[in-house]
Amino acid sequence: MVSTTRVFKNKKCAGLLLFIFVLLTSSRIWYSVLHESKNPCTACTAPCTLEYINSIEDLEQYTQELDICGSEDSVNLLKRIYKVNVLGSPISIPKPLKNKLNQWLLGDINLISKANRQKVVQIRNRFTKESSHYNPMRAMRPNVQGSNSSEYVRNLIMKAEKSCDFCKPLLLTAEETWGRIRTKTSLSGANVFRLVGPNNAIILADRHNVLELSAEELADMFDCAEQWFKKVNSLNKDLIFPMLVWDFFPKAGASQIHPHFQVWLDKEYSGQFLTHFQAAQLYRIEYGEDYWTDLISLHLNLGLGFKSGETVVFTPLDSHRDREVMVVGDRVDATFIKLFYAAIKLHQAQGNFCLSVGMSWPSLLGSSYPAVARIGYRGDCTVQYSDMSSVDVYAFYSINSNPTHFIHQLKNFTMSAQL
Ligand SMILES: [Zn+2]
Repeated sequence: MVSTTRVFKNKKCAGLLLFIFVLLTSSRIWYSVLHESKNPCTACTAPCTLEYINSIEDLEQYTQELDICGSEDSVNLLKRIYKVNVLGSPISIPKPLKNKLNQWLLGDINLISKANRQKVVQIRNRFTKESSHYNPMRAMRPNVQGSNSSEYVRNLIMKAEKSCDFCKPLLLTAEETWGRIRTKTSLSGANVFRLVGPNNAIILADRHNVLELSAEELADMFDCAEQWFKKVNSLNKDLIFPMLVWDFFPKAGASQIHPHFQVWLDKEYSGQFLTHFQAAQLYRIEYGEDYWTDLISLHLNLGLGFKSGETVVFTPLDSHRDREVMVVGDRVDATFIKLFYAAIKLHQAQGNFCLSVGMSWPSLLGSSYPAVARIGYRGDCTVQYSDMSSVDVYAFYSINSNPTHFIHQLKNFTMSAQL
């Protein structure tokens, strides 16, 4: 016989279980209601699309578990290519530090209110395995902002001209045993201090001042580089993958102020160029689709890029540096060079003089792999602090700017400027 107390206890227990069951069920229903109201894809009757993001923080809404619709939809592309985490925990800021913070954040009430509950947008490319972490508030740290970069770089250019080796290239630069490539306003030379073998050229503009380099002169430097690739390939048919790097001013790593590309040709892409090439191959194996087509589609759908002719320019979610843009096209044609030049001119117009560029061409044997150029800002030229630290060298890329801003400005600049 069951005692009254025991029955009562069992009833209490049953009631508690019923309560928990109802709570869980109703939570699930409410979760579904909320979920459906935010996610138009639940019914899977239409392709999922992403809305343009206004800031990198807007990506957080896409980190939630969304229902997956057709394989072509934008949300799926984001999830296919990137893993996005938005993480942060509140901190306590003592009053004396608050006063300093107020100065660093220039009294911006919005930023000050967010300071003790910052979130970091952490983005990992699933195929290259590279990670970029975004916290635009880090740009407001003390000592990372300079004063008058324009005056500084103009003085630097003027002083360097008096003893510039690259202004006297026939006397003060080396050449290959077969000679040089000469184009209308550019000349090739052999890099005395080889970066890479077997051949490593410098492509020199005749013009010393990079701020006065015209679009035609830049196009001529690309022409000179391409003629050098063809010449080297004619001497060694195994070398088929063309690559280029270019730094502006010492802060970005340039040993000479005079505008010059470093170019080389190899049997396979080098370093990070190879990482992307292999990522595209892995993507093809896993999804049977073209990596670059989907990467471009995703960024255009997020409002992080725009198209001109057959060339696309966008700010990659896995940027390596602040205000970075990636120019992608089937070939390095006039439109490609125009967008490349526009990005440099806009940076210079904004006082971003220290830049680094990395670029690869399709294989000389012909390839569906595109021409890709990345242009990133290396921090204020007048500031002694490096834009890079152990974080960027050994861990992940730390990005302190909002990726939406520069690309929007570049779109307007490209449409309005007489380039
Ligand atoms: Zn010079």
